[in-house]
Formats: sequence, structure tokens, C-alpha cells
Amino acid sequence: MKLNRTLVFRLLCISLVIVFVARDAEAFSNRTQIQDIMSELTPEQKVGQLFLVGFEDADIARETSIYKLIADYRIGGVMLMAENDNFGDDEVKTKLKEAGIAPPSGEINCPQCDSKKVQVVSEFGSTACKALYKCLDCLEPFHHFKQI
Ligand SMILES: [Zn+2]
Repeated sequence: MKLNRTLVFRLLCISLVIVFVARDAEAFSNRTQIQDIMSELTPEQKVGQLFLVGFEDADIARETSIYKLIADYRIGGVMLMAENDNFGDDEVKTKLKEAGIAPPSGEINCPQCDSKKVQVVSEFGSTACKALYKCLDCLEPFHHFKQI
């Protein structure tokens, strides 16, 4: 019996070592990938990575300035806001619901079952612009884009 415990302990130690070595290798791989991506950016694109921008309307066609900022200058992020009419299109709201996210609006409905019986779980979700809710009918958790 003691032999089995010793063997289990050794196997546990070996697996822990393997986990830590694998985690370090993954971190090194991620760092290398980031360095590879950054080395391919032009100086203008590296500066573009520092900017978070907003835009009006939901049009992101090739001739728009927001498309040019994303495609040519690789801006760091895009801030979508209801007051800029970024979610005005029904297609955008439908796609958000399909992704399990309640779009910004005055009334918050569950994106899964459309129930109005919802409860705030946290004012902040995976990002500061989203809140975490729970549906009281189907019990599914979901994010809601805050209306700013
Ligand atoms: Zn629901």
C-alpha cells in the first residue's frame, strides 16, 4: 500500500512539473507571436494601436473612414455606442442576440428566451461596457451592452 502512495505522489509531482513547463512554453509562444505581429506593423500602425475610436452610424463599408482606420492604421479598438447609432440596424441587434448578448436599449430582454424577467448579477461583465445579467425564466446568464 505504501508503494502505491509513493508511486501516486511521484506521478503527481511529474505531472505538476509537466504542467509548469507547458505553461512556460505557452507564455513564451504567446510572447513570440506578439513580437512577430509587432515586427510586421509599420510605424503608423504601431501608433494606431494606441487609439480607441468611436464613429457614427453602423456603416463600415470600404469607403468609410472607420474602415480605413481599422484596415490601414490598425487602431487598437473601436468603441460602439448606442448614441452614435452603432446598433441602430436590426441586423446588428439580431447578431448580438444570436451571440447571447442583449443589445443596448431601454428595455433589457433575455437574448435566449426574450423574457423581461431579468436580474443584474454584476454591473460589470467581461468588459466595463457590459453588465452581467441572469434570466429568471430560463436561468441563462447573459451580457448586456450598457447604453452610455
Ligand atoms: Zn431567458
